Amino acid sequence: MSTDNSAALFLVATPIGNLGDISFRALETLKSVDLVAAEDTRHSKRLLQHFGIRTRMVACHEHNEDQQTPVLIESMRNGQSIALISDAGTPLVSDPGYRLVQAALSENIRVIPVPGPCAAIAALSVSGLPTDRFVFEGFPPAKQGARQNYLRALRLEQRTLVFYVSCHRILDTLNDMATVFGGQRQAVLARELTKTFETIRKAPLNELAEWVENDPDQHKGEMVVLVEGARPQADDSTLQLNELLPVLVDELPVKQAALIASRLTGLNRNELYRQALKLKEKV
Ligand code: SAM
Repeated sequence: MSTDNSAALFLVATPIGNLGDISFRALETLKSVDLVAAEDTRHSKRLLQHFGIRTRMVACHEHNEDQQTPVLIESMRNGQSIALISDAGTPLVSDPGYRLVQAALSENIRVIPVPGPCAAIAALSVSGLPTDRFVFEGFPPAKQGARQNYLRALRLEQRTLVFYVSCHRILDTLNDMATVFGGQRQAVLARELTKTFETIRKAPLNELAEWVENDPDQHKGEMVVLVEGARPQADDSTLQLNELLPVLVDELPVKQAALIASRLTGLNRNELYRQALKLKEKV
């Protein structure tokens, strides 16, 4: 355990529900630093009180991080140690602190992790989806149009996708995912992790959406959604072609559609002509 706490910024992970998940080192750090910078001081006061910690607290959240950063940096330059905590889990993971960490690093102030709970990692570890490669996407956009566009950009992502989703948008989000990724893609809803009503369910996206639709309890609490990555595609030119050729055939004569597709993908023009003819016959 680090004992020299002078002039350092500690990033301390706190529980995501179950207070028993706080680490010994997190408690020691919160006790020994000069100041705790908390996302919500009222919320974190309960945590500190529970563990009998009396360290002074200041607020550092999305709306005051710009003003608070130089003040905190100045304190650390004067030799003070600060622990940054968020309402739950690991600071900076969909939580404030990025600007403070950047500023501390640029001032050559030590930034020290005190690792612990993180909803995304907890959910991933129990998901049964591949964990060797994954991508954390945070919260998808709230508005449906923007959300669908954003999901479309992830359609071919082969790594396991990890999202934080607000309970108010869970059904709409699962439906959009089913539309964009295909209803058969495996997904996991990990809700209220480490808490009384912890629920972890794995199913294809369309089944998961139906289950949520029919169970009002699944619209409550905090949740992580994980989606299986896309299957590897043949190769990039085949991929582009599958999207390109139908559009060209809709708009142009077959010969011209095949010529343009061939120039864009580098694939054989005669073969593309045959494929374009087939598509035209279907229209
Ligand atoms: N920094 C936190 C972390 O390390 O997980 C995340 C903060 S983010 C503002 C809050 C989101 O995390 C929630 O909306 C939910 O998506 C997810 N989350 C937090 N606690 C959770 C829990 N106990 N079970 C499932 N998801 C949780």
